[in-house]
Amino acid sequence: MQILLIGAGLSGAVIGRRLAEAGHSCRIVDSRNHIGGNCHTERDAETGVMMHVYGPHIFHTDDEEVWNYVNGFTEFLPFQNRVKAQARGGVYSLPINLLTINQFFGKTMRPEEAKAFIAAQADTSITDPQTFEEQALRFVGRDLYEAFFKGYTEKQWGCSPTELPASILKRLPVRFNYDDNYFFHRFQGMPRDGYTPMIEAILDHPGITVELSTPYAAEMAAKADHVFWSGPLDGYFDYALGRLGYRTLDFERFTYQGDYQGCAVMNYGDRDVPYTRITEHKHFSPWETHEQSVCYREYSRAATPEDIPYYPIRLVEEKALLADYVAKATATERVTFVGRLGTYRYLDMDVTIREALDTADAFMNCLADGRPV
Ligand code: UDP
Repeated sequence: MQILLIGAGLSGAVIGRRLAEAGHSCRIVDSRNHIGGNCHTERDAETGVMMHVYGPHIFHTDDEEVWNYVNGFTEFLPFQNRVKAQARGGVYSLPINLLTINQFFGKTMRPEEAKAFIAAQADTSITDPQTFEEQALRFVGRDLYEAFFKGYTEKQWGCSPTELPASILKRLPVRFNYDDNYFFHRFQGMPRDGYTPMIEAILDHPGITVELSTPYAAEMAAKADHVFWSGPLDGYFDYALGRLGYRTLDFERFTYQGDYQGCAVMNYGDRDVPYTRITEHKHFSPWETHEQSVCYREYSRAATPEDIPYYPIRLVEEKALLADYVAKATATERVTFVGRLGTYRYLDMDVTIREALDTADAFMNCLADGRPV
């Protein structure tokens, strides 16, 4: 079959590879001048530091098959994300753990004591938290919420945490021990040479052709038997029903001679600091030595049509519009919508890969059974 894949990010590459290995002919086009989508990494021209061009990407998963899959294409080195946060004049450990709690409240509590202490601050009248704020007040109480989550979240999402779903905060654990690993997954690491060579290796198959700086045009689809679309869902329909909202990020780059902040990610909880975090990219490759450092100050704002979309907003309004677009997508024959932009969901890399593998397999099962795809 002639398969057209729009987007050379993780979804397009993984689906393309699976189908190419099964003998299909895959043409992948991407409007950008590089592969990898927002996972793209490249060395900084001035300092040689490996940059996560579209912000930090740390690979973590519990899915052994996905872990083996990525390790089959590149070498991963151990990396654990240990985030720090500045708030109210201090530096604390994230995610909220026993060190954060003891330092923040000036105490020396053991796990059980801290649990009881936080439980006493928590708003137990909230039995079924729906919003971000309710989730925070229920599980960490007002003091920690206001120091670490309220200001950061207002900056990140441009709205009050009372308007956001609890699910956003559920991404972060609260720990009553000193484990400060940001993620709670069995497998965690960073590709030694960045993500772009990994995706290049996935795409390196005789059944795959890749065309960069090539925006999608309808005549491309006319020549294909099936299309996998990993661009924006609303973009496929020319925004006929309106635009799905996204947050975009602005990165303010600066260099520093030496070690600027001593860690890869420093979050800023205070509302009067305009950026959400500073990332110092040489710390994402701790096995490399660089005298000079490159950092990004990260600012979040509503995306305009010209901006690169990052985070789907998914508030009530967007959800209604999304449902209408999903109905249109479902009714569209010979096109499968995939990935973060194609399904308008906030997906981690491992989930993106898992879904891409499953989507390719489901597609081939349908073909084998003679069912419509
Ligand atoms: N968050 C926060 N303070 C922090 C880190 C995260 O309030 O220091 C909130 C914020 O709303 C964010 C959410 O928790 O969107 C999920 O955090 P995560 O680290 O998963 O954000 P991402 O990796 O998507 O930037």
